[in-house]
Amino acid sequence: MPQSKIIPAKRTENVRYAIRDIVALANQVAATGKEMYYLNIGDPNVYDWSTPPHIIDAIDKAMRENYNGYAPSSGTKPAIESIKRDAARKGIDKNILDVFVTHGASEAIELCLTALLNEGDNFLMPTPGYPLYTAVESKLMLQSNPYYLNEEDGWQPDIEDIKSKVNSRTKAIVVINPNNPTGCLCRKEILAQIIEIALEHNLLIISDEIYDKLLFDDNKLVSMAALNSEVSCITFSGLSKSYIAPGFRIGWGIATGRCEIMDDYLEAVNKLLRARLSANHPIMRAIPAALDGDQSHIARMNSILMKRRDIVINAIKDFDGISMVTPQGAFYAFLSIDVKDDALFCRELVKETGVLVVPGSGFGQKPGTHHFRIVILPPEEVIEKAFAHIKSFYKEYKNKFE
Ligand code: PLP
Repeated sequence: MPQSKIIPAKRTENVRYAIRDIVALANQVAATGKEMYYLNIGDPNVYDWSTPPHIIDAIDKAMRENYNGYAPSSGTKPAIESIKRDAARKGIDKNILDVFVTHGASEAIELCLTALLNEGDNFLMPTPGYPLYTAVESKLMLQSNPYYLNEEDGWQPDIEDIKSKVNSRTKAIVVINPNNPTGCLCRKEILAQIIEIALEHNLLIISDEIYDKLLFDDNKLVSMAALNSEVSCITFSGLSKSYIAPGFRIGWGIATGRCEIMDDYLEAVNKLLRARLSANHPIMRAIPAALDGDQSHIARMNSILMKRRDIVINAIKDFDGISMVTPQGAFYAFLSIDVKDDALFCRELVKETGVLVVPGSGFGQKPGTHHFRIVILPPEEVIEKAFAHIKSFYKEYKNKFE
């Protein structure tokens, strides 16, 4: 008998990842031979950036020394010790309950949400925000519970909106700091207010600090767990962004708070960690080399990123219809655009000009507002040419479609 169709699980129905979803269209355009300008992907190694050699050397050595078996499920001792030293440098030095190394921050985030939420529960999700969270939300069959970032206030979390959205099934609040897609940093008093809400409603704070070292203009990151070591919090970071190695797939979570409150939950996280054996063992050996080794590439990276950001600021200065809040860190900019449908705009833009950006709707945005996200990773001339195209295409698009 022929097999009948293999039906995918319902939990995959709403999984979306806008950053990669638009790539299929871009590939079709590229196949026609058109010159392309990729401003879509948060992967520095796709552009003119590469992993510092001393970090690669550590992996080469680890492989030759045969650290090629499984690692302990939470990670090796040298990796965990160096993550703790790095955390202490950002003020996270009290009430550390657990540290675990994972396949990128992505795996840590997914495990921590999986260990916490039952079907029908919800977590408060910054909007706009990174779409991994909403994909996990769908996969775990959760209710979505977006809270808005306030564009008029430099994309700070809207505290009143957060307060109004906590309900009996809310288990956690996510803060992405510096934020993807806006590049903005949360102010200390806003973080303190979020901590108050978390304490009042017994929420776990998920503090995604994967861009923690990519900071511009003397801005300083305030870590949630440094501000309050008693509140239940997991802080995420990794090697992908500040150490220019997203393909290593190495990240981590640091749990802080009170042991008697967090112990059962952390045991659940550890059960999931054990079930997937371990993160990549030889690559994990690069963590001490990265975190405790030469950091000079970070200052260089930040100064180049600032230059590239400033090209965008200049390109849209005095241009009617496109504006942005100046990014303070990470490597993104989230531009407001006066169109009725940003997804349509981005599709038409790539078809006509080869410029690939990600529609704001893929990150969530306030109804009635429209945006697109770019990365400020490409070389200066690519950003300049891309913006020349964006500006001339915008005028054509308005005439043709609106
Ligand atoms: N969190 C945020 C906010 C991100 O932007 C990204 C990647 O773009 C990740 C997590 C995933 O990081 P990793 O490569 O460590 O899985």
